[in-house]
Amino acid sequence: MTNDERKPTTNDAGIPVSSDEYSLTVGPDGPILLQDYYLIEQMANFNRERIPERQPHAKGSGAFGYFEVTKDVSAYTKAAVFQPGTRTETLIRFSTVAGERGSPDTWRDPRGFALKFYTSEGNYDMVGNNTPIFFLRDPMKFQHFIRSQKRRADSGLRDHDMQWDFWTLSPESAHQVTWLMGDRGIPKTWRHMNGYSSHTYMWVNAKGERFWVKYHFKTDQGIDCLTQAEADRIAGEDADYHRRDLFEAIKRGDYPSWTLKMQIMPFAEAETYRFNPFDLTKVWPHSDYPLHEVGRLVLNRNPTDFHTEIEQAAFEPNNLVPGIGPSPDKMLLARLFSYADAHRARLGVNYKQIPVNRPKCPVHSYSKDGAMRVENVSDPVYAPNSKGGPQADAKRYPQVEVWQASGEFIRAAYTLRKDDDDWGQAGTLVRKVMDAEQRDRLVSNVVGHLKKGVSGPVLQRACEYWRKIDREIGDRIAQGVNGA
Ligand code: NDP
Repeated sequence: MTNDERKPTTNDAGIPVSSDEYSLTVGPDGPILLQDYYLIEQMANFNRERIPERQPHAKGSGAFGYFEVTKDVSAYTKAAVFQPGTRTETLIRFSTVAGERGSPDTWRDPRGFALKFYTSEGNYDMVGNNTPIFFLRDPMKFQHFIRSQKRRADSGLRDHDMQWDFWTLSPESAHQVTWLMGDRGIPKTWRHMNGYSSHTYMWVNAKGERFWVKYHFKTDQGIDCLTQAEADRIAGEDADYHRRDLFEAIKRGDYPSWTLKMQIMPFAEAETYRFNPFDLTKVWPHSDYPLHEVGRLVLNRNPTDFHTEIEQAAFEPNNLVPGIGPSPDKMLLARLFSYADAHRARLGVNYKQIPVNRPKCPVHSYSKDGAMRVENVSDPVYAPNSKGGPQADAKRYPQVEVWQASGEFIRAAYTLRKDDDDWGQAGTLVRKVMDAEQRDRLVSNVVGHLKKGVSGPVLQRACEYWRKIDREIGDRIAQGVNGA
């Protein structure tokens, strides 16, 4: 391109500017003039370039792609996105949880696996993780949990004592902590890990029949993980290791993919299942509910502007389309409020008008005005109206994603089922799934973690916590940390 062919620089109003290099001054050596609006615009915009980081899941990246349905699951859901042969554009964002926006990708942490499907019936978001479970089952504790994983008030440091204090006083964390301290606690890349809805959702078919479901996105690249030593080294050498890996893989045409498989439970079975099927700290064993294939997710397009397409992306589990609904999982029900609220706080009330968040189907809502609205509103601005405005179509879109509930208002734990406890499934993971070498690495990871600043009663509680998960593993950990 010759210099004559290059576009002339303008300011943000589109007005051509005469210099990218020199401020407007009184003579070459004189003071700068206030009328140099281009300079002022440059400085003012620069000062406002950063938006608040996400709280939590601040560090991450993502890509665009598509989801293609390969099997017929119309017997379970009428959702347009999952009908045979349907192909839907998608956006995914991977992330760590506790670290800040510039923190190393290879810290031991669960990974976010947040998906947006731009469906013909509105945006459908599945905001999952790379683990099928979570540390908690009641949202009252979530804020405290995240604070315990982030930084202390006094020193501004992360603190393993604080992390283990919280975990050991919250035994429901045992399953997720066991997972986190195992090999899968540090994936080799985002391409080499699975994604899970973790929560149970509802699917409803065209006949109105309801099912409880869990999503499993199985990596087609195969599972691969980093050891603690590898991850520590990479954290120092390349803090953006996972972000770089994804971007470069897609750039060279090596498109990563995942196969979506579902666990499907008939609606009525939830009442009598041996585990509470809505408890986020539990899986449904595959022997009880096997996986049904649905389709394939492929990532084939990098962002061209990280800020507008990834940093401003807003995923919200409340984006549920007809045929998909929530379940009585208390954590999920709280997230249905908190994600959208976080976006309103971080990006402003009209965040759904930012192009990456905008549905690809028409929007006929009655929302109006607010900061940064860019889509025009037209009359009538209220409903009901006799002026031809949009009106809800209960016949075509009945509210079918529902269940019954009754009882006194109460603050209480879930009612326990036959096999519900805090330790059992964590123990199964250690004894049934991990082999001897994986167990050795688990012990070494936990001992290494505990030796960094955990002492006194918290350390003692940590040893007891592990003995409850598995007696032998607990004894080995106790021996590793204090020779007990
Ligand atoms: P299965 O033997 O049917 O499945 C075990 C699962 O564990 C597989 O999906 C496997 O994933 C995964 N896995 C393998 N190694 C590890 C590891 N180091 N850390 C975490 N997960 C691993 O068992 P069940 O369904 O009876 O469940 C037994 C335990 O397995 C559970 O308590 C849970 O901790 C774990 N698990 C269960 C899942 C479920 O939804 N039922 C899902 C994932 C884990 P892959 O196929 O990719 O190798």
